[in-house]
This record gives sequence, C-alpha cells and structure tokens, in this order.
Amino acid sequence: MNSFDCVVIGAGNGGLIASLRLAKSGKKVLLVERHILPGGFATSFSRGRFNFEASLHELCDFGHEENHGNLYTLFKELDLLDKIEFVDVPEAFRVISLSNKEDDYVMPFGIENFINKMEEYVPNSRKSMRTFFELGKEIQDAMRYLNEAKGHPDSKVLMKKYPNFMRVAPYNVDPVLNAIKMPKKAQDILNTYWSYLGAPSSKLGFIHYCIMVYLYVSLKAQIPTKRSHNISMTIADEIIKNGGTIYYGREVDEILIDKDKNEVKGVVLDDGTIINTKHVISNASPHSVYGHMIKDTNLIPKKALQRANFSTLSGRGFSLFLGLNKSKEELGLKEYSYFIYNSLDSNKEFESMHNINNTSQVVVCLNNALPNASLKGTTILYFTSLFFGDCFDKALTKENYFELKDKLAKNFIKTFEKATGVEITPYIEEIEVATPLTYAHYTDSPDGTIYGYLTADLDNMMPRLMRMYNEDYINGLKFCGGHAMRSSGYNSSYLSGDLAAKFTLGDLKKDN
Ligand SMILES: Cc1cc2nc3c(=O)[nH]c(=O)nc-3n(C[C@H](O)[C@H](O)[C@H](O)COP(=O)(O)OP(=O)(O)OC[C@H]3O[C@@H](n4cnc5c(N)ncnc54)[C@H](O)[C@@H]3O)c2cc1C
Repeated sequence: MNSFDCVVIGAGNGGLIASLRLAKSGKKVLLVERHILPGGFATSFSRGRFNFEASLHELCDFGHEENHGNLYTLFKELDLLDKIEFVDVPEAFRVISLSNKEDDYVMPFGIENFINKMEEYVPNSRKSMRTFFELGKEIQDAMRYLNEAKGHPDSKVLMKKYPNFMRVAPYNVDPVLNAIKMPKKAQDILNTYWSYLGAPSSKLGFIHYCIMVYLYVSLKAQIPTKRSHNISMTIADEIIKNGGTIYYGREVDEILIDKDKNEVKGVVLDDGTIINTKHVISNASPHSVYGHMIKDTNLIPKKALQRANFSTLSGRGFSLFLGLNKSKEELGLKEYSYFIYNSLDSNKEFESMHNINNTSQVVVCLNNALPNASLKGTTILYFTSLFFGDCFDKALTKENYFELKDKLAKNFIKTFEKATGVEITPYIEEIEVATPLTYAHYTDSPDGTIYGYLTADLDNMMPRLMRMYNEDYINGLKFCGGHAMRSSGYNSSYLSGDLAAKFTLGDLKKDN
C-alpha cells in the first residue's frame, strides 16, 4: 500500500514539474510538501485589500507561440498552457545608479530596439552589442544540440557548427565582453540582470549570462495574470488529475538507504509513516538532505559531501511588499522593474551586498504589467535584495529582529524614493517584510538563500550541466530546483524538475 515508484520531496517549482512529468508518464508518484500549499517561493499572499506576488518578477525563456523558449515548450508538452494566462512585461528594465545621477537608463525588449537604445546611450556600442546577441543565438543553438546529444556530444560537430560557443564556453562575462570590445558603459548597462543570478560579472559564466539576456530581450518576459500561485496550483491540480498523490502539511523526515546496495529504499514522514520507494527526487537542497534527512552520515558517500561542499550558498533574501493607496499614475511610477544599484559595476555591487547597510534593490511595480493587479487608486510595489555572507547574522540579536526589519525596510524605501524621485512613504497602506529567516522558515532553504547555490566559476551552469550525468552518488536519489543542475530561477527550477523526472523514468525502465 505505502509503496510508490517515486517520492518527490517538496512542491516548489522543481518538485511540481517532476511530479507532473512522472504522473503523466503513468508512474505512481507521491509528492510530499511540508506546507499546506504548493509552490515554495512560487506563491502569493494577501494583506488587507492587496494580493501580493511572493517572488516572481518575470519569467525567462517563455515567450509566445510564434517565438518561444524551452519553458513554453515544457508547459505545452505538459498541457499547462491553456490553463494559465500570461501577459508581457512592458520593458526590459530601468537601471539607476545612486552614485551618478546621469546613470539612469530604460532598456526596451526586442534585439534591434535594445541595440539601438544602447547606441543612443553609448555611442559606438552597436557592433559589440550585435556580436553579443549573435553569440546568444549561437549559444542557444549549441545548447539545443547538447540537450539532444544527452551527454554524448560529438566534439567535431560542436567545433564545426558552434565554434564561437566553444571559444567563449570557458570564460566568465568580463573577459568576453572585453574581448568583443564592448565599451565599459555598455557592459555596465548590459550587466544589469546580474543580480537575478546573484553572481557578479567577474564570476558569472558568460554562456549562462549571455543566454539569459538573449532570451529576455528576444522573447520578452512574461508573468501570469493571477500570480505565481496560480501556476503552482494549476500544476498541483494536474498532478492529481493524472493519478499522482500529494500530501500537504507533511514533511519527509528521513531518506532510507540500503547500505549494501547504496540505493534509496524509502522515506520516513514526520509522523513516522514509512513509504517504500527506490526513487526519490529532492526539491530540498543537498545541504538539507545530507544535513538532516540521511540520519546515518556513514551512508553518505564522501564524493556526495565533497560535491555539496564545493558549492557556496547564494544570496540571502530580503524583500518588502508594499500596498500603496495611490495609483501608479498619481505616484508617477512609469516602469515595471527598477534596478537600483550604488554603481553599475556588478563586481563592486556584489561586494557591497556583504554589508547590512547596503540598499541595492530590484523593485517591481506590478500594476505596470497588470493594471488591475490591485483595486482602482492603489498600487503594488515589491522590493527584492540580497545579503551575502554573514552580515545579516551579525546584525541580528535575539531581541532586535523586529527593530532590524523596520530599520532595513525604511532604508530600502528611502533609497527607492531618492533614486526615482517618487514619494511613497505617506501612501503605504500595507507593508510586509521578508528576511532570510522568513525564507529559511518557509522553504527550508539553507540560511534563507533564495537563488540556490552561487553560480560562479567552476560551479556555473555549464559545468553543472556537464557533471549532471555523473552525479548519482546514491542510486535512486536525484535533485531538482534552485540548488540543482540548472541553477535557480523559475525557468531553471521547472526545467530541472523535468530533467530529474526524465532521468528517473530512465532508471525505472532499467528496474523492470
Ligand atoms: C523575492 C524573490 C524574487 C524572485 N524573483 C524571481 C524572478 O523574477 N524570476 C525568477 O526566475 N526567479 C525568481 N526568484 C527565484 C525563484 O523563486 C526560485 O529560484 C524558485 O522558485 C525555486 O524553486 P525550487 O524548485 O528550488 O523550490 P523552492 O521554492 O525552494 O521550494 C522547495 C519546497 O520544498 C519544500 N520542502 C523542503 N524540505 C522539505 C521536506 N523535508 N519535506 C517536504 N517538503 C519540503 C519546501 O517547503 C518548499 O515548498 C525569486 C525568489 C524570491 C524569493
């Protein structure tokens, strides 16, 4: 009775898609989620008359039927497309530097529009910008080929068809942008999205960053009209409709390992129930699995620990959610996403984020993509920032949590007002603040990180994808989500769930 083909731990984006793929493939799947709702970070919440999006600013790699990305294809394959309504985000971004008033740029979607706008802001940037987007296209094609080759690419094909992909693959962002002679100012503007991946341009793999920007600019970004919670609920409903089982409000306390075979043999839930299975996909991080779900640490292969310890935790989340009692027009908020940094140099900014008083931020005005996101005459704004290292712990005492939250929130709001010249403080009707403690509590992410492991240097997306075929340290145990092979973000976590499910389907075939 208590036996499943696969148990999926956690109903975040990765766990939901993994479960749906398995259920649709006719497998007996159990999804266990410690909360009473699906989604993990991908959720919404209400305060007063406002319904806030908890995390999503914009979806990457989606697009439209006529020009779409991998995420669109995945949702189509899983029959999700017609069940969720999406709209385009109006512009790529507005980026503002606090240290130089003149550094204030609004960039549009569409490759030609983007290149033209950059040329207006930075004369003589056109050629290098074009080269950048051509590289983006080649990287996209090469990644498709690598995907089809399933871990066995022909190096001759790679060299012949994708020579520039091979040339840039080993490098981080800075050396490639320098090599294509992009003016420094254009690099700074182009690197605006760095904080979405949480690693600066000197550490971030060029391929990862280039494909991300290419996808954003060419496919535009989308959001669901009913918050990310609607996506999570729709996928959960589909899992059930396709014969899957979901336990909400239950936690996987332990993963049972057969010592002699080094393979999964089941899981134990928080009430002591034992579920038999040979396959587990964990949407919880390797830190959580090796840290507390495998009780006998002798059963964890040394290589698995080495691999997990090789990764560094990414930024720890700090967010504000504001419900304002004035319309965006009355306030004068024209853009959807505001990236506000001390300077436009991502490497300096990354260092600043190790300081608790840093107020760099990404702010979204939801009503600029969804005019009816809140009632007439009101506006929803949400702020996201990252703290690296232990600066948050150092500032926190047992007594000062609420005081610290208030102080930081006020600083972030002041910075926004200073950067945009838009006064918001008198119009705040609702405010909610999420700290690294909130995120650790809500999703069990280690230290309250919101972007999985830092995608930097040898732990960038490309090396992760190359290693993923050889990372079955315990037979039957796979990972998906922000801490897995595709790194964090909505599209990456969904796609990693699909990959983990497909690998598990392959293993299940071998079992029979
Ligand atoms: C404020 C904010 C803004 C963001 N903005 C964007 C954006 O604009 N675009 C973008 O692409 N990404 C964005 N992200 C990142 C994105 O939300 C995450 O990368 C993604 O949601 C991670 O999904 P995941 O699959 O790793 O699952 P998670 O959301 O980490 O969920 C893991 C789930 O596992 C459950 N779980 C853990 N342990 C157990 C256990 N033992 N038993 C049962 N259940 C367990 C947890 O409760 C949780 O539900 C943002 C994140 C935040 C917080």
